[in-house]
Amino acid sequence: MGITKRQTHIPSTIRRVVRPSLIAASAFVFATSVPAAAIPAPAGLHESSKLKAISTSVAKKTVQVMCANEDDAWRAQAEAGVLGPTADPSAGMGGLAKPGASTLYLAWSTCDFLLERLRDGHPDLIEVAASILTLVHESVHLRGVREESVTDCTALMLMPSVAVKFFHFKAGSITLSNLMFYARLAHGAKPASYKTLC
Ligand SMILES: [Zn+2]
Repeated sequence: MGITKRQTHIPSTIRRVVRPSLIAASAFVFATSVPAAAIPAPAGLHESSKLKAISTSVAKKTVQVMCANEDDAWRAQAEAGVLGPTADPSAGMGGLAKPGASTLYLAWSTCDFLLERLRDGHPDLIEVAASILTLVHESVHLRGVREESVTDCTALMLMPSVAVKFFHFKAGSITLSNLMFYARLAHGAKPASYKTLC
């Protein structure tokens, strides 16, 4: 359903979806503990109140969303473990969250696509799909879900309602179908551990 010309460009789509900055846009679990109380933004990141509202809705508790100010600093901090040690610094560059914590961290580009869409702009749907999936995935981690496949499959299930409620997608629309097509492509490009359940 919802097949359009946009969906016929599979090769370029896949190429874009698997580019390093978005591969496994979802995240990585780090091992240090994060206090439940509000924390100041780490150097090079800032808090997003708009994304906080969305993540709080998914996480079912009050959370904080920190956006990187730019992607180079994000990569440097993530790879250096400044935001917490990652299981694999080479992947998961779109977002980070510790299961059960109250703060998630997003790359600049992830936030940029989400906020542009929130402004009712029309950024690239492939990027929007990967970015919403990342936000929802990290928010599911904040529920306390640790296992990556459970997290990503839950995120895929939640994503249509999140897209409709917060990101101006119309329920049942072709555009929403296309969004989910790209989200599933992004999911499919992730490591095997993310895909054991769906
Ligand atoms: Zn994850």
